[in-house]
Amino acid sequence: MNRGSSHVTILGGGLAGSLMTILLARRGILVHLIERRADLRSHPLSGGRSINLALADRGLHALKVAGLYEAVVPLLIPMSGRMLHDIDGNTQYVAYGQREHEVIYSVSRNGLTQLLLNHASRLPNVSMQFDSECVDVNFEQRELSLTQHTTTSVIPYQQLIAADGYHSVVRQHLLQSTHSDASDDLLPHGYKELTLPAGSNRQHQLAANALHIWPRGGFMLIALPNIDGTFTVTLFLPFDSNDGSPSFSRLHDHSSVIDFFSEFFPDALALMPNLASEFLIHPTGKMHTIRSTRWTNDSNAVLIGDAAHAIVPFHGQGMNCAFEDCIELDALLKQRPFAEATTLFARQRKPNADAIADMALENYIEMRDTVRHPKFLLQKELSFELERRFPDRFIPRYSMVMFHHAIPYAIAYERGKIQTQILDELTSHANGIDDIDMAIAGKMIEERLPKLASVL
Ligand code: FAD
Repeated sequence: MNRGSSHVTILGGGLAGSLMTILLARRGILVHLIERRADLRSHPLSGGRSINLALADRGLHALKVAGLYEAVVPLLIPMSGRMLHDIDGNTQYVAYGQREHEVIYSVSRNGLTQLLLNHASRLPNVSMQFDSECVDVNFEQRELSLTQHTTTSVIPYQQLIAADGYHSVVRQHLLQSTHSDASDDLLPHGYKELTLPAGSNRQHQLAANALHIWPRGGFMLIALPNIDGTFTVTLFLPFDSNDGSPSFSRLHDHSSVIDFFSEFFPDALALMPNLASEFLIHPTGKMHTIRSTRWTNDSNAVLIGDAAHAIVPFHGQGMNCAFEDCIELDALLKQRPFAEATTLFARQRKPNADAIADMALENYIEMRDTVRHPKFLLQKELSFELERRFPDRFIPRYSMVMFHHAIPYAIAYERGKIQTQILDELTSHANGIDDIDMAIAGKMIEERLPKLASVL
């Protein structure tokens, strides 16, 4: 792409598409962005669908690379740990990291996307087209069919970057045209977004600098702060159950919703006067893991973000991973022609996308269940101690994923498995950190975990 070809069409003006637009346009490339929805800057997304997101080091790093860090900071609320709420209303704070900068940030999806679109629109070589849904792709002719209101038109493209989300039309055509396939695993749990209003003077009614979790074993409630003093609360729950345990199918009217929250989340219910009416209006969302065997046609089209690899939201990494895609693809496009860069991108990136997909699924069990157990807390404490003693070899897996953008997901995943074994062995007969023999711990770590610098 650095040699000659200089016109890129980006499909999808969500998080990944708008950041990719900025990265390419800043290098002088002509970018045409096409988005199905109306312009989000004048038509923000309505409630009920992933209102805020956790932004972590990988996403922040990508925003820094794009020169947007200062612009984004006012949108961010730091969350330094999890606040666990038990059924009796007691809370326990568990820090995410052990250094001051080891925090994640709550950010509004609307606010962040609007900021990216604003920055993109100010670049002279960017054109944007809203209310235009891609319904067909012809890779041989390099053409997109777009529906705008009731009319369909065909437009040419030179190179296509598809950031059209987890339902990606481009992915479907890519798989057909290359006789490839993708797995689409629907989680049997859904989610419902609700609002915990601000208190008087627009104050947060719960601690603002934490991600709140009400873990209940088979399901959970979480809450992330917004800058207007509200929290976005999300219930994750099975769609159905045949053994009488709670599920969305049982929450069908005002009283069943209130009864359920009174039984399992009484402290949250007390702060949410409109809970039942919101619950019955807001959609119940689905969560997918999509693993596509192809991300590119090795010629003129490539998938990024959820279009390539949708994951469940429990590690708070879908957007972070999508942003990382953008900077990795951009770095390759700086050096190589489009076809070569995109083929290499897909080859390098897929193992990392697969790793975070698995870790995201595992994290659901941690958040809704394991986090309540004393063994989890002991292993968390021990992990921090081992990180202090052996910082070049042992970094807790959560920290590798959330605070270390230089460590690829696949490496975090592999080292995480070894670390879990070490932690299990060390804590198998321990009741507290003082029961652990640090000399043995050191020996295990030296034998099993090569220095990080040597594997990066
Ligand atoms: P999207 O954001 O889905 O953008 C796709 C865009 O393409 C949209 O604007 C869409 O309108 C447009 N489009 C789609 N089809 C077409 C078409 N045919 N023609 C034209 N345009 C089209 N990630 C995190 O990092 N942290 C979190 O805390 C987090 N929490 C989440 C909570 C929930 C409940 C969910 C569901 C997801 C969460 N995620 C989180 C994941 C995150 O939302 C996604 O990974 C991220 O939005 C992916 O960005 P994207 O640009 O690839 O796709």
